[in-house]
Amino acid sequence: MTRPPRFDAAAEEVARVAAAAPDWEALAAAARPCVACPELAATRQHVVVGDAPAGGHPRLALVGEAPGANEDETGRPFVGKSGQLLDQLLAEAGLDRAEAAVLNVVKCRPPGNRTPRASEVARCSGWLRRQLELLDPPVVVALGLSSAKWFLGPRTVLADVRGRAHVVDGRSVWATYHPSAAIRFGPNGAPRAGLLADLTAVAGSLA
Ligand code: SF4
Repeated sequence: MTRPPRFDAAAEEVARVAAAAPDWEALAAAARPCVACPELAATRQHVVVGDAPAGGHPRLALVGEAPGANEDETGRPFVGKSGQLLDQLLAEAGLDRAEAAVLNVVKCRPPGNRTPRASEVARCSGWLRRQLELLDPPVVVALGLSSAKWFLGPRTVLADVRGRAHVVDGRSVWATYHPSAAIRFGPNGAPRAGLLADLTAVAGSLA
């Protein structure tokens, strides 16, 4: 997993505050005013903390890259076109979003939906790490390369790691396409088929 650089005081402060949160609600309350990434904090509307099933440990966690425009506006993860496609493919695969935690590696929208910078990923990692500790999902689905790299290392190549579970910190981590790639390549593109195949394999592993 991504660890904060030792010299980054902001990343260390996020990690310290996150580690002290005793539960999901306390962590969300601590994250919402976070200004560790000055550019993102100045341009976002919401810190998109994520969704978690009420009162329990989710069967799996879906972890994307960062909020988009709709997520930034509403404060909820995966509610735009990518979220709609994700919901559709989860249902086709036999998975119930209500039983899943839905998270992002970076909690604030990067301007123009640019890829989050390494420093932003490192600073936000404390929140995600603590979310995983608190929720303790046995299975994680990393959606897209940024998320796959967070769990499997910075040299991860998606094509090399798809299609099977990787054990990371005692969890089964599956890496697959981000729904936005499935939208970009169209309904007959390889990412949509690959995402559905991977979600179906995840469902099979949970059966
Ligand atoms: S991206 Fe994460 S670390 Fe950066 S300001 Fe937002 S919540 Fe804080």
